[in-house]
Parts: sequence; C-alpha cells; structure tokens
Amino acid sequence: MAKICVIGAGFAGHTAALYLGDKLGREHEVTVINRSPNFVYIPSLVWVGIDRMPVEKTLFDLQKVYDGKNVNFIAGRATEVHADAQHVVVEPNGEGATPVQVDYDYLIIATGPKLDFEATPGLGPAAGNTWSICSPPHALEAREKYLEAVDRMEKGDRQRIVIGTGHGAATCQGAALEYITNVHKDLVRRGVRDKCDLTYLSNEPELGDFGIRGLNVKHRGRKTSAAEFIGAVFKDYDITPQVGRGVTRVEKESIHWEDMEGTSGETGYDYAMLIPRFQGQPLKYVGKDGADVADQITNPGGMIKVDGIYGLPWDELAANPDAWPAVYQNPNYTNIFAAGIAFAPPGPISKPHMNPNGVPMSPAPPRTGMVSGIIGRIVALNVIDLVEKGRMTHSERMTEMAAACIASMGDSLWDGSAAVIMVYPVVPDTRKYPNEDGRDEFVTHMEMGLAGAWMKRMIHTTFMHKLKVRIGWKIIPE
Ligand SMILES: Cc1cc2nc3c(=O)[nH]c(=O)nc-3n(C[C@H](O)[C@H](O)[C@H](O)COP(=O)(O)OP(=O)(O)OC[C@H]3O[C@@H](n4cnc5c(N)ncnc54)[C@H](O)[C@@H]3O)c2cc1C
Repeated sequence: MAKICVIGAGFAGHTAALYLGDKLGREHEVTVINRSPNFVYIPSLVWVGIDRMPVEKTLFDLQKVYDGKNVNFIAGRATEVHADAQHVVVEPNGEGATPVQVDYDYLIIATGPKLDFEATPGLGPAAGNTWSICSPPHALEAREKYLEAVDRMEKGDRQRIVIGTGHGAATCQGAALEYITNVHKDLVRRGVRDKCDLTYLSNEPELGDFGIRGLNVKHRGRKTSAAEFIGAVFKDYDITPQVGRGVTRVEKESIHWEDMEGTSGETGYDYAMLIPRFQGQPLKYVGKDGADVADQITNPGGMIKVDGIYGLPWDELAANPDAWPAVYQNPNYTNIFAAGIAFAPPGPISKPHMNPNGVPMSPAPPRTGMVSGIIGRIVALNVIDLVEKGRMTHSERMTEMAAACIASMGDSLWDGSAAVIMVYPVVPDTRKYPNEDGRDEFVTHMEMGLAGAWMKRMIHTTFMHKLKVRIGWKIIPE
C-alpha cells in the first residue's frame, strides 16, 4: 500500500487530493494536511473586501468532501519534512494538541505563498497601515477599513484610496486590478465616487504586464495591447496609474517608492490595499542525521525546486520553453513534487529590471488558480502512474498551458463588467509561435463587457461545485 501526503489544500493541493482520492483512496492511503479546516475560494475575496459577498460564501468544509473521497484530513500546520525518513511533522489545530507524524512514499507540497509583508517595512495588517485581501481574515479587515473610508466620504471628507503591489518583486497584479475596479464601481453605487481619488500603484513596467510580459491581441485586424486596454478602462473610471514603482517603505498615510530610474517619491493615502511579495512557506527540511537539506529542496525564497532549468540569464530563459518544469518533481528527492505557487519558477516571465539603487522592479511570474489547479492535476496523475505502473506519463509546462482570467470590474449582473483575458501559452514560446509575443494570436484574446460579470459569477458557482465534488466534477476543467 502506498502512502501519499499532500501539504496544502488550495487550488493546487485540493485538486491533487481529489484525483488521488478518486483513483487511489480505496486501496492506498491519501492524507491531506491544511492549516485551515476550510477550502478558501480566494478569487472571490475581492468581493468580500468591498462588502459585496459574505466571507462564508468563499469557504467550505474540507473534511466533509474528503470523507466521501477516501482521503484522510488533518487540519493543522506542517512544520517539518523529513525527506530521507519520508515523513512530515504536523502540529494539529487546537491548543495543546500533540504533534503527529505522517509517513509518505510520495509527497506533494502545495502550500501556496507566504505573504511576505516583512520584506517591506510598515506594509500589511500587522503594521496597521495598509490592508490585504489575500486571506479571509485579511479581506475582513480590509472590508472594515474600506467601509470606514466610505463612511468618511459619506460625511463629506475627500479620501485617497491606493491599491496595487507593495514590493518591487510582488506578483498577483490581477487581484489588485480587480479590487480597484470593483472599488470604483462600489463607490459609484454608493454615490460617493466624486469624493475619492483612486490610484493604482504597481511594480509592473507598464499597465497590463501582469508579470507575464503583457499581451497583445488582434481584434478586427487591429493590434491592441493590454496596456492600451487597461489604460482605457482606467481613463473611463478616473483611476490614476502609477506603474514601474517598487514600494520600499510604508508609513501612516504615506507610501514610499522608487521608480525604474531610481527616483524616489511618495504616494499619500487614507486607505490602501497592497499585495506583498510572495515567498515559500517556512517549512524545515530535514535529511539524514538531522541535517538541514533545505538547499536541496527549495530555492533561497523557500519555493520548491523542481525539474526546471534554474540560473539561466533571462534572454536564454525567454528563448528556451523547455527550461520550464514539465512534471514538477524535485530533482534531489524524486518522490517530492510541488504544485501551484509553491513550485519555484526558473525565472521571471517579464524582463527583470533593477534600478540604479538596487531596487528590483520585476513582477514575479503569477501561478493563477487555473494554472495551480492544472499543475495539481498533472502531479496527482503522475503519482497515480508511479503507484500503478512505476513511470510517469503526464506533463504540462507553463509554456504549453493556456490561462483564462476573468477580471471582475464590478460584480452587478445588471451594470457590472469583467475583462475576459485568454492567454496561450502563459509563458511565451517563441520557438512554437515565432511572432513578437511568442503566443498563439488566434487564441490569445481580451474582451470586456457585462457578459464577463455573468461569467465571473458562474465561475464562482461552477468551481465551488467542482471543488465540493458534486455530480460531474471531473468534467469541469481546472
Ligand atoms: C485576492 C486574490 C484574487 C485572485 N483572483 C484570481 C482569479 O480571479 N483567477 C485566478 O486564476 N487566480 C486568482 N488569484 C490567484 C489564486 O488565488 C492563486 O493562484 C491560488 O490560490 C494558488 O493556489 P495554491 O494552491 O498554489 O495556493 P493557496 O491557494 O494559497 O493554497 C495553499 C494552501 O496551503 C496551506 N498551507 C500553507 N502552509 C501550510 C503548512 N505549513 N501546513 C499546512 N497547510 C499549509 C494554506 O493554508 C492554503 O490552504 C487571486 C489571488 C488573490 C490573492
């Protein structure tokens, strides 16, 4: 009997667990460890942060789902991976609970990001200056502070709202973009939009870069860039863009940044939501005789090294689609896999830039929910292969993966909107698509309208249906 352990039950780990439980759960042992007893549908936290969705709608109980799928579940925090002895140490939730040991033959690390607010002095909820929508407690705090700003506007005060990224190497700009456009729509709805200055502050070299080197689409024979597309939306919504800025420090009412040329400046705010840099989760990796083997498993940022080619100069990486991992397997411990944000990309997709003062201005590669789910499936299918036939038959690089992103720009089904962005492949492949962008010009697409708002709502409902393993879950793609 094989023992498979999955750490983390987000888009990547939960997807992997469902395939593993479905195929192996009856005869083998599948165990999932997750800090929270709930799955969190993170994309909808954007709506929690403006008080348009109760947080409960973004959560469901994992135990209930796993009971029906022959998956053991431990709600707790994995603290140590003993890579040679093949077990994980877990601190179960609940005061005074004794740590437990979970043995494994195969381990999937799908722990998502550590939200590294500490990398930017004064950033984030603990410092009490800026807020975040990256987790349910954060989104609830952000909602409270946002509503206080709304209250001040209703009393006649002018407010400055700043939304974006809080570090030069941050990722997830799409979430910040969705939040600011939803804030705009919400303020219009509440009748106080004229009392607010809205600023989008981002480390992207230009609007619409998203850490994927931007995108261009051909529409009715005309080429439009994401920069033009988002720029037009911002103009329409009266949002001031400040891009190419790496935040270096945050103080009460003032965000300090440096730009690409090394000039420093400040942006004033009354309410701000800034996404931090993402690092890997701080697990301890232990080898033979208690040795620290972290350098064999993770990169310096704590993300799991897999079968990519690391350390290439950016130009070489950009020209080599095979440098991106295919099976997400650690080269030193081949029974350890990583999925979702937890795996270490071989380098940035957008061209990195360091300003003359050494401040990095390099959006990190996003691994969105769809990409994370796909990787979770690939890894699970390969572990199933290894258990059943001793060899892997599945692979998918980010240079082969499509990503659909529906960026909500107002949730109302009557006057809401969403930008529907389809990118293929996520990481440009200039070998297969020898055009300027390295992408399939037929598939890559961008469109905005009310239909997108309906699709965004439908996606919430459909994915919750799939992830709760309701009827037909397997035919709904990741
Ligand atoms: C506000 C916001 C909006 C977004 N909107 C979209 C969108 O519209 N579309 C889209 O595709 N993507 C979106 N994303 C990105 C998407 O949420 C992420 O890509 C996705 O959550 C990554 O999945 P993951 O499984 O890798 O990590 P996560 O979802 O972060 O899951 C990791 C899990 O591991 C657990 N964990 C971590 N450490 C441990 C430990 N030591 N022990 C046990 N458990 C642990 C965590 O508690 C968590 O449950 C958005 C992100 C944000 C922040």
